[in-house]
Amino acid sequence: MDIKKRRTMKKIGIIGATGSIGTQAIEVIRKFKNLYKIEFLVSYSNYKKLFEIAKEFNVKKVGIIREDIEIKNEDFIIYKGKDEILSLIEDIDLLFVSTTGTFSIFPVLKAIEKNINIALANKEVLVSFGKIVNEKLKTSNSIIIPVDSEHSAIFQLINPYKNEFIRIILTASGGPFLNFSVEEMENVSVEMALNHPTWKMGKKITIDSATLFNKSLEIIEAYYLFGTKNIDVVIHPQSIVHSFVQLKDGSLLAHLGFPDMRIPIAYALSYPNRLETPSVITHPYDFDKLTFLKPDFEKFPSLKIGYFCLENLSYYPTIMNASNEIAVYSFLEGKIKFRDIFKVVEETFNRIEKEKLKDETLEDLLYVDNLSRTIANFIVSEISKKR
Ligand code: MG
Repeated sequence: MDIKKRRTMKKIGIIGATGSIGTQAIEVIRKFKNLYKIEFLVSYSNYKKLFEIAKEFNVKKVGIIREDIEIKNEDFIIYKGKDEILSLIEDIDLLFVSTTGTFSIFPVLKAIEKNINIALANKEVLVSFGKIVNEKLKTSNSIIIPVDSEHSAIFQLINPYKNEFIRIILTASGGPFLNFSVEEMENVSVEMALNHPTWKMGKKITIDSATLFNKSLEIIEAYYLFGTKNIDVVIHPQSIVHSFVQLKDGSLLAHLGFPDMRIPIAYALSYPNRLETPSVITHPYDFDKLTFLKPDFEKFPSLKIGYFCLENLSYYPTIMNASNEIAVYSFLEGKIKFRDIFKVVEETFNRIEKEKLKDETLEDLLYVDNLSRTIANFIVSEISKKR
């Protein structure tokens, strides 16, 4: 490869390379190997898959977030744990962040500090620490390009109209239990909840889509990305319209396409340019009837909590995100029932001693995150004892 060609390649690092989104990002990059140079790859613990990808793309530096795993491999330079992984974030054009959980805030802040653009698939980072992230962005040239499909749609629609839009309308598929009664939802199995009607995603987000907590998290994500509290949610079971932006002249802009995460992933990788789609080209003839319904706040109290968080911000979204995560994994492990997820989050809000909480620094919010998890775990053990 000649030097000129190498210079035009985008240098990227991927945190969370082996998960659902990370794997699809690799798939996109595989199609455009001439455009991207992967500098490093990081995974939470799946080093076998990580080594495979690293070998394929000739990547020398690999990171494992979990520090307690013994790994030996002469072919790679292995970075273990937070500090070593953060040291990788230098001299790249784009950091792709697709890990789940709290860890992701650290690479995001490091990238902002280094003026590196971020393709962000982890919405929890903005939900829990959006205030800190936005504060840091003010003194940086970094841009966050959302990978979440709704936010990618809004990002694409809103850019020319930053001062002329009046509302964001997020679409939600409604999940597998959209037409279930509250009683019918009472005894749904993990398997049923994991069976999403339109999107193929990781387990945590699939459960979040079934409870609609995913949409509540996305309301907060949208607030921190686009700076408005005028955010509506509309149920759109076909998942063809990925979101709307309403302009002050009455225009309603929409972004349409088949539900395929490789499209927003490709956009985040190529922004501000476009790649030829790795997906199918859609035509309006391809779509069946498109429907838009009002969400049921009684059946899905998650949305009430989401709007409460939007209204009050501060540490409330952090509490929602942390307690929901504990509740979801407890449900997946069979410790609580599906609708107990709502109970765990509501009860965490009730029990946490808000007068002791602060939201000024990252440490304050990490404390809230941690405390919420402890309380949520306690509530889970109470519920499972009663069963
Ligand atoms: Mg989404």
